[in-house]
Amino acid sequence: MEGEAACFDHPGNRAVASCLHCGRFVCQLCAVESPAGVLCPSCLAAGVQKPSPVSADGRSLYDTWALCIPFLLLLIWPLTILSAPAVIALAIMKWKAPLSLVRRNRWRFALGLTVGTLQGIAWVWLIVYLVAKARSSG
Ligand SMILES: [Zn+2]
Ligand SMILES: [Zn+2]
Repeated sequence: MEGEAACFDHPGNRAVASCLHCGRFVCQLCAVESPAGVLCPSCLAAGVQKPSPVSADGRSLYDTWALCIPFLLLLIWPLTILSAPAVIALAIMKWKAPLSLVRRNRWRFALGLTVGTLQGIAWVWLIVYLVAKARSSG
């Protein structure tokens, strides 16, 4: 143990890291992984989460989005039964508009049309599947 940093709370334990906030040495037991880095238990208890606000915020925002998007999609996916035909109709309508108006945005309509068509296919497939399942079981 001599010559090595010891944990602030456990003098018998070798330090594996130092707290990002207060600099105390922490052992394997005490090291608390936070989004920003390793914290000691007392700093964690004190609510210190952002030793470097910029990176911590950016990372937590990214994490939040990464977590939210699947749930968001889960929440809004039933809406696609309405949006899919609307998107297709809109895309077809706009496609027939004078070329000069849509030329720059045509790829957007193509994308919308593709996504709308895929969603429409997904819905038709789902309905057919459910009907077939209901028939086979009933
Ligand atoms: Zn600390
Ligand atoms: Zn410790």
